[in-house]
Amino acid sequence: MNRKLSNWERLKNDASYKFAEQEVYKRDKCCRICKSVTDLTIHHIKSRKEYPWLAADEDNMIVVCRNCHTNIHRSKHSNRKVNK
Ligand SMILES: [Zn+2]
Ligand SMILES: [Zn+2]
Repeated sequence: MNRKLSNWERLKNDASYKFAEQEVYKRDKCCRICKSVTDLTIHHIKSRKEYPWLAADEDNMIVVCRNCHTNIHRSKHSNRKVNK
C-alpha cells in the first residue's frame, strides 16, 4: 500500500489515459502491422521513459497485436547492439 507508484503506473490508471487508449483502439481497430484483430495492445512510438509527456498522446500511440509488439521491442534492442 505504501509503495510509491511511478509516473507511468499512476498515468495508466488515470481516466484521461484510459480515454486516450480507447480512442486509439477506435481509430486503428486492428494491429497496424499485420491487421490482426485479436490480442491487441498499445505501443508507444516514442518510449514512455524518454518522452513521458507523450505517454497519453494519441498521435504517439498505435494499436498492435502482442506478437508484433514483441517484435517491435526486440528489433529495437538488436538495433542497439549492431549500432557501430
Ligand atoms: Zn500484429
Ligand atoms: Zn511498445
